Amino acid sequence: MRQAYRFALNPGSAQERMLLSHAGAARFAWNWGLARCKERYEAESSWYSAAELHRLWNAEKKANPALAWWSENSKCAYQEAFRDLDRALRDFIKSKKGLRKGKRLGFPKAKRRGRCKDSFRFTTGAIRCAGTTVTLPRLGTVRTHESTRRLADRLEAGTARILSATVSRTAQRWFVSFTVEVNRGVPQCHTRSGTAIGVDLGVSALLTGTDDRGAVITIPGPKPLRRTLRRLRRASRAHSRRQQGSANCRKSAARLARIHARVADIRADALHKATTDLAARYETIVCEDLNVAGMTRNRRLARAISDQGFGAARRMLGYKTTWNGGRLILADRWYPSSKTCSGCGAVKAKLSLSERTYRCGTCGLATDRDENAARNLLNLAASGAERLNACGGTVRPGFAGHVPVNQEPGTASAGKTGTAAGQQAAVTSKLTNAYW
Ligand SMILES: [Zn+2]
Repeated sequence: MRQAYRFALNPGSAQERMLLSHAGAARFAWNWGLARCKERYEAESSWYSAAELHRLWNAEKKANPALAWWSENSKCAYQEAFRDLDRALRDFIKSKKGLRKGKRLGFPKAKRRGRCKDSFRFTTGAIRCAGTTVTLPRLGTVRTHESTRRLADRLEAGTARILSATVSRTAQRWFVSFTVEVNRGVPQCHTRSGTAIGVDLGVSALLTGTDDRGAVITIPGPKPLRRTLRRLRRASRAHSRRQQGSANCRKSAARLARIHARVADIRADALHKATTDLAARYETIVCEDLNVAGMTRNRRLARAISDQGFGAARRMLGYKTTWNGGRLILADRWYPSSKTCSGCGAVKAKLSLSERTYRCGTCGLATDRDENAARNLLNLAASGAERLNACGGTVRPGFAGHVPVNQEPGTASAGKTGTAAGQQAAVTSKLTNAYW
């Protein structure tokens, strides 16, 4: 099983220069390889593979005295840039032939200093971690901001092996991300077999869930996030007023990037905590398969940010349910979980985002919007109409018995909605003005 471990680096000034030099080398190699490939692509519709580029580069770097600086950096930086380029070209062809999902890709572009992400990768050499340090080829021992114990313990015990180390810079801060092959003992079945929860990833709450016993779980967005989002809005307004290309514009852009990175950190942290907890408590988790790529084009800031959270949450739930011996079920993208009444099944034609309470015109049900959606997702899984995702594995019967599949108004389930409505008052007050 592959897993990533990411640590923030705290390099010395000499190390920082080395980091920049390696990132520059990777960028140079990408651009150099891209120029060769472009030539060949235009002439004969093919390109050089990573191995061919590496051979060409080895010949050129010895022949051309202007490239004598190459030896200052690990040869991995060049080699991995060629591999990235090769992958980008293959993705471009796949996309062109319609064999790749998502947005159409263009021909890979040249990278410009300051306009691209500074990044490079090591796959060979001394890559280690211990205490609050990591050891990387050429760079030696670099201090980290936090302990690497999580990974170091696994390496020591022999249950993990580092495959590569990618070093990159986000908002002036350097990070190393290890791709690690981990031997994880995955249980055959979940410790709480038969439990299920429908989860709605909301805009106002981080997530709202309704489980098979009828309990409603609401995890509000973290408070520091709201504060940081306010700062973000102010900073982006200030940035938009700066004159393009000026020194002040560069400064405000750097500030904006730092706040964006902070928002991403807080969000990731909250999502990790929430999804770890859910995966441990429930065998089956049902959530919506949202078109995240399409949604993030939304122009409203808070909305766009929570949209990014959806993709991350779904990914985390996918692998964490697997680690716990459970499964994640994704409802079809077009399933109207928000617009459907969880009481009688009537579907509304329109439901605006600002309507926080779902009011059914057919049976008179009034319940929290996200809670209604979560209950629908849970019911959907129980009815067996869902689409299983790749992480899911086989459908295990058994949990359906706990779930009221067919909820009729006026029967036991209506009473259940009543209890939920009681809890709802507390829930909604918590959510006012949140940005999830
Ligand atoms: Zn209804």
